[in-house]
Amino acid sequence: MIERGREKERDYFLRILDIIEETVFVIDRDLRILDLSKGCLNRFIPHIEREKVIGKRCYEGLWGMGEVCEGCPVSSVFEKGEAARTERFFSLPDGTNRYFDIEWIPVFDEHGEVIRVIGDIRDITKRKEAEEKLAEIVDGSSIPTFVINNEHKITHWNTAVESLTGLKREEVVGTDRQWIAFYAEKRPVMADLIADKAPASKFKDWYGDKYKMSSLIEGAYEAIDFFPMMGGEGKWLLFTAAPLKDSEGTVIGAMETLQDITERKEAEEELKNAEEQCRTIFEHVLTPLCLIEEDDTISTVNKEFETLSGYSREEAVGKKWTEFVAPEDLEKVMNCYHNEKKEELPCCGFKFVGREGDITDVKVSIEHIPRRKIRVASLMDLTKLKREEELSAICEELKELDDMKKNFLNAAYHELRSPLTPIVGYASLLKCDELGDKQRDYVSNIEKYAEQLKGQINRMLELARIDGGEIAMTLEDVSISGIVNDVVKSFKPLWNDKEQTITTHAPEGIVVRGDKQKIIAIFTNLILNAIKYTNEGGRIDIMVEDRGEDIRVCVADTGIGIPEKHLPKIFERFFMVNTSLTRKSESLGLGLSIVKEYVKLHGGRIWATSEPGKGSKFFFTLLKKEI
Ligand code: ADP
Repeated sequence: MIERGREKERDYFLRILDIIEETVFVIDRDLRILDLSKGCLNRFIPHIEREKVIGKRCYEGLWGMGEVCEGCPVSSVFEKGEAARTERFFSLPDGTNRYFDIEWIPVFDEHGEVIRVIGDIRDITKRKEAEEKLAEIVDGSSIPTFVINNEHKITHWNTAVESLTGLKREEVVGTDRQWIAFYAEKRPVMADLIADKAPASKFKDWYGDKYKMSSLIEGAYEAIDFFPMMGGEGKWLLFTAAPLKDSEGTVIGAMETLQDITERKEAEEELKNAEEQCRTIFEHVLTPLCLIEEDDTISTVNKEFETLSGYSREEAVGKKWTEFVAPEDLEKVMNCYHNEKKEELPCCGFKFVGREGDITDVKVSIEHIPRRKIRVASLMDLTKLKREEELSAICEELKELDDMKKNFLNAAYHELRSPLTPIVGYASLLKCDELGDKQRDYVSNIEKYAEQLKGQINRMLELARIDGGEIAMTLEDVSISGIVNDVVKSFKPLWNDKEQTITTHAPEGIVVRGDKQKIIAIFTNLILNAIKYTNEGGRIDIMVEDRGEDIRVCVADTGIGIPEKHLPKIFERFFMVNTSLTRKSESLGLGLSIVKEYVKLHGGRIWATSEPGKGSKFFFTLLKKEI
């Protein structure tokens, strides 16, 4: 009963084969042909009769071969019960060469055993030939090109794309790793989107605004992008991907061509920068400039031109250049304008008419811009030039006067100082025992004030010497802690009197290559000021910090402080903040300006911070090595 049923089922199956147009055949485990479809006989092997083929081994009956085909998957299909696929090239008995794609489909009995295998043959000769042609085109092309199928597997990768990407075809053909040439992470390339017939939104997702539809190839897209991973410093690529279609118009893959446009992009970038630079120069140059078109109208002006003419840019643009020339000078400027001699720059002076009819004497030079029918006119304001020349003459005169003043003062300081020495000498001679207390006091006062006067004159002389560049430096290794301690000690009577506390933090061993007397003068001035401008019971801290290249010193006090508005001026000559303490002290406002010059001579900087009523901090630096 069961046997009969099976027979019937078989008959039914074979009858189907009799009528269907598909090219299929049925084989058993021994590869013997059990039957083959009408389509097989009609289209595929028309010269063979069914009866002559049935019972023969498929390789014999169908392809006329003497032995089983290499890599035949049929026994494995029987074993595993899984379909398989092979592609084969055959020279058929009728002498034709053909490619076939054969799908081997297992047929199971009710126990799940494979009882026969159906071979479904598809003639892919045309496709194969097309592929070979494509390979020829792609491989022969000098444009970097690759092709993928609609399973996204790379089928072609030509030599040009090998050298552009550095990836050999053996590494990528047959894989879907086309992204690896361009990106750090897996993502679709343009050919993948084309093969998927992706909608425009997908292109936007992956390429933003960088892509566009190709105007030349239907269904193709192109984009320009920078690929930082490519080459040493990245590459700019112009890439186009187009669909590959079979004879029925079905998309079977995509082809992508690449063009390395890095050099072009860099040249464009350079051009853009150059243009930008020209524009900036045009705008900021201190010469009035305007561009004149072929029809004599002005197309651009710069800021200086606006100032000279009194017209805003918008007003000036579009006007004829002749409108800016006084009628009596028009012919002269016209000649200059049309002077085509290349060897000399056309140049002439004329009266420039401004917005309000105002006249300025100018000189113009007109230059052609190469390859463009534009001229650039640059104007020189002669009135301004004259004014500048006058100013520079005045400057020269003032400098001469200043030099004369300096020379005079220098001489005067010397003259003033000379009589002081005998005054001090005679005063000390006068101090003999015969003098009464009152007279002795008078003489001491003469001595004291003469000394003070001598100190101030010496300072003025020192500044005059600094100005004249006559200052000499005697260099030696100077121990800073030694100086700090000596100066503080020398003023002990003063700060003791005012019951002030002085602390010093000056690590031993800090040595500066400098002029010892000048460094002493710096510390003396700052410490004396701190004592002078700090009330009784106040505190003074001196800190020296070794910073490697230089030292930084801070002299801080808790004194009267300096108002913020005066701080920037305190290092200027003769500047004093008007307080009862400055009025009381024998000040002239020269100390800090000398200190500043001395610090500068040692490659340093000086500055101060202060809070009125709370105190001041004076900072300065000195380079450790000589400059
Ligand atoms: P002076 O010989 O008058 O002290 P300086 O050049 O040394 O001249 O100082 C200029 C002015 O800066 C002083 O007159 C004083 O007003 C102010 N000054 C300097 N040092 C201090 C300080 N430590 N505290 C407050 N004011 C100061």
